[in-house]
Amino acid sequence: MLPELTAQERAVSAMAANIAVLEGIKVLAGLGETLAGTLLTYDALTMSFMKVPLARRPDCPICRDV
Ligand SMILES: [Zn+2]
Repeated sequence: MLPELTAQERAVSAMAANIAVLEGIKVLAGLGETLAGTLLTYDALTMSFMKVPLARRPDCPICRDV
């Protein structure tokens, strides 16, 4: 059973879902610049986004060959 979400929580979830879907479309279509290797943060109160580059770990079986 999932907890009931507030309107604000639903709005932020919808925003994150929209970004995720758009990223998927970009990857599948080979368009634009994706967020691969980047952490995107979003502050809904200030409507600000920040992109933080992520480092790959050579010993990580998931991201070492990406
Ligand atoms: Zn990794």
